Amino acid sequence: MDVAALAEAASAAAAAQKDKDKSEAKVRHADQRTAPADRATATPVADTEAVRHPTALPADQVEVRTLDKGQSLVPPIPRLGPAGQPAPAAPVVEAPAPTPVVPERVQAKAPPSAPAVVTAPVTRPAPPVVRKATRAPRPKPVLAKVTRHEDTHEPTSVEVHKSIHWDYEGPNGPARWGQLNPAWKTCDSGKRQSPIDIRDGIRVDLEPIKFDYVPTYFRILNNGHTVQVSVGPGNTMSVMGRTFDLVQFHFHRPSEERINGRGFDMVAHLVHKDLDGRLAVVAVLIERGDAHPTVQTLWNNLPLEQHHDYAPAVPINVAELLPQAPEYYTYMGSLTTPPCSEDVLWMVMKQPIKLSAEQIAIFQRLYPMNARPVQPDNERLIKASR
Ligand SMILES: [Zn+2]
Repeated sequence: MDVAALAEAASAAAAAQKDKDKSEAKVRHADQRTAPADRATATPVADTEAVRHPTALPADQVEVRTLDKGQSLVPPIPRLGPAGQPAPAAPVVEAPAPTPVVPERVQAKAPPSAPAVVTAPVTRPAPPVVRKATRAPRPKPVLAKVTRHEDTHEPTSVEVHKSIHWDYEGPNGPARWGQLNPAWKTCDSGKRQSPIDIRDGIRVDLEPIKFDYVPTYFRILNNGHTVQVSVGPGNTMSVMGRTFDLVQFHFHRPSEERINGRGFDMVAHLVHKDLDGRLAVVAVLIERGDAHPTVQTLWNNLPLEQHHDYAPAVPINVAELLPQAPEYYTYMGSLTTPPCSEDVLWMVMKQPIKLSAEQIAIFQRLYPMNARPVQPDNERLIKASR
């Protein structure tokens, strides 16, 4: 564990927390999702790979987003019951009563010492839930409490235009990420970066990862760097004594990680976060083969425009994206997109899943190449299921 990096991150977190309410929004692109409905906290803007750890964000990059309790910017993701059937009990909010709400983006341009500026609440109706009341009667799905993760953020198109642009090639390509923004210097200076070429792992009996994924509604977003799918709460993964919530997953083409030098057609990164904010990413390698029904559901629902996410009326079960075989490689690494934050637990499943050539071609139309090159492993310990 890189103590210096952690200390730095903690320091940055403290600064970000302290300054969050007074910072002018300066937003960057993001794969991310917005604040949850029930947190009235300012939310750092996160960047791609995930869930950006809040500690990674410097104060001047913090967007202030203040919501009243219970207020959501977007309709929540309904959640299905465990058996794939909509859970019967919970009420559906078809047309929520008007609730007081602070304007979506309180961008306090206050002097540094001023307290948080919160403009007077105005009353407006909360956005209606997507479901239509006119459908035939059926069990109503539980409304997910959290629509978007507190540390993640999907920018509006306006925000995106303010963001610092990074790319997978050209002048803002991976070799330059660390210089494009001081907050991204770890992309250059980090010693535990991802992805890596996985080789020379120690072969041991790794405990199987315990996936507890359930059918869930989802949001799908083309964020300009990848296609990202966000899910509601209730999908968890446990490993090494810790339990993580699945927050989002997204795709790269070709695979970012290599196994003994071999790359794959694509990879899916399933990004999890635990209650302490620690990140764990499960990588599922993808090779050409039969069509994958879950991916087809995703592609069927691709948003037409970038940066506008969409909540289809169909559920998915992310468990269907997992390979049959439980073996995996594991090592400590980083986000593979700016800010390249470290201390990310990686688990790369050994067995690839299959997508059809047509399904891969669809993603390729959007993203012919969105993979960071492999990074030096710096003799990190890699463990492999034997
Ligand atoms: Zn990724």
